[in-house]
Amino acid sequence: MADLGNLRKAFVDELRDIYDAEKQLTKALPKMVKAATSPELQTAFETHLEETRQQVERLEQVFATIDETARGKHCDGMAGILEEGRSILDEDFDEATMDANLIAAAQRVEHYEMATYGTLVSWARIMGHTDAADLLQETLDEEKAADEKLSELAEGGINQHAAESAESEDEDDADTEDEERPMASARASKRR
Ligand code: FE
Ligand code: ZN
Ligand code: FE
Repeated sequence: MADLGNLRKAFVDELRDIYDAEKQLTKALPKMVKAATSPELQTAFETHLEETRQQVERLEQVFATIDETARGKHCDGMAGILEEGRSILDEDFDEATMDANLIAAAQRVEHYEMATYGTLVSWARIMGHTDAADLLQETLDEEKAADEKLSELAEGGINQHAAESAESEDEDDADTEDEERPMASARASKRR
């Protein structure tokens, strides 16, 4: 059989990357809960925060199954996706549009994670790390479910509300935009 040393190294590197990515996400999700307006969306973010904390622990189990120490390596991908998400909070969107944007940002996170876990599951299987593969598959399933939940929320009303508030804004005078800014920041500080 071919030497799996290189694939093992790639596998461990990828585990360290996603371990760091999940930890970054546990810090970002509480901010997304605060920024969300829809109670259903807040609940979805809170639920996924709890799942994400469990995913961090699950990764520690994965490291243990292959006799590696659990250690993170800065994930630039997650940092970039979260940075884009954070910049949304500076926009003075109405509440429904803010929610629609938070969903968009969160789904970019989920797809990034799904790509990584998909790879990790198949690499674990090909190297015969069955326990690791099963643990990683569990997380992959959670990420897919989280992504689907977000699609449901977006398509179950939030996008519609965003479209409707965009329409009512069109009816307003175009120069009200400056007046809306203090309101938006008042709303933002109220949430803290
Ligand atoms: Fe995750
Ligand atoms: Zn990464
Ligand atoms: Fe996730």
